[in-house]
Amino acid sequence: MKLRFWGTRGSIPVAGRTTVRYGGNGVCVQAQPDDGTHIVFDCGTGARPLGLTWPAAAPSVLYLLLSHYHWDHVHGLPFFDPAYHPGTQLHVYGPKGVEETMEVVLAGQMRRSYFPVQWKDLRAQIVTHEISEGVVCIGGCTVRAQWLNHTSPCLGYRLEAGSASVVYATDHEPFAWAGAASALAARLPHPGDRRHAEWLTGVDLLIHDAQYTEAEYATRRGWGHSPVEYVVDIAILAGVRRLALFHHDPARSDQQLTQLVRRMRRRIREQGSPLEIIAAAEGLELIVPERASAMPA
Ligand SMILES: [Zn+2]
Ligand SMILES: [Zn+2]
Repeated sequence: MKLRFWGTRGSIPVAGRTTVRYGGNGVCVQAQPDDGTHIVFDCGTGARPLGLTWPAAAPSVLYLLLSHYHWDHVHGLPFFDPAYHPGTQLHVYGPKGVEETMEVVLAGQMRRSYFPVQWKDLRAQIVTHEISEGVVCIGGCTVRAQWLNHTSPCLGYRLEAGSASVVYATDHEPFAWAGAASALAARLPHPGDRRHAEWLTGVDLLIHDAQYTEAEYATRRGWGHSPVEYVVDIAILAGVRRLALFHHDPARSDQQLTQLVRRMRRRIREQGSPLEIIAAAEGLELIVPERASAMPA
């Protein structure tokens, strides 16, 4: 399975010289399992350059898995070229909106006051699927959706293709965080976090919200995002193989992110874990090998 990061920035896109290395576009990740299924996680502004690579003439089926409908996760949809291609069948998965259906929410950001093209004018065949926790089969893959702890209903997705597994988990904050100073086993006192760790068990690649440092999180509890120390520790506890820090804070410069990864590498070494860690970067491609096609269609 091939993964490509088209947008890594949380909350609001940023432009400028300090965000060149890790990117300024809003969250969007493309997953291409070996069976050729086209999957996209979230539709921040990174979806625009992704859409430009899509061949307009070729009929295609595309699965868009939305975590929730905060602007930074859907703002790229009106600029997503495949939504305008008559040959595209676009299946959109996500939770029901807080007050309305998914379709009403998505069409809402394209109302005439906000955008010149309306939802009903999109030429792709769009099928919305409101889902909750549970298992969905997409192409030859299995997707295990689980609720995250955010300020609005928000789903994370565990994608399994053959032996390869990837989790896309943003936006999420700890149910309770005892702090990095406490013993590792005591850091997750809340059953919600232990359940989160269980869902992440043994995953090859974890793409996880890591917007804050622990120091920043002290004044941002309840904002729906994770301190990086919590993310590293839960990844270690869950036996994750590789962790990609994601949903970077708009104020985080390239230099700060590089330093953050170095600091977390030391933290992982000190705990004697083989966990690999990177910061997700716009344009970065990762391969997760599918050793055998064990999952049923
Ligand atoms: Zn977000
Ligand atoms: Zn959000």
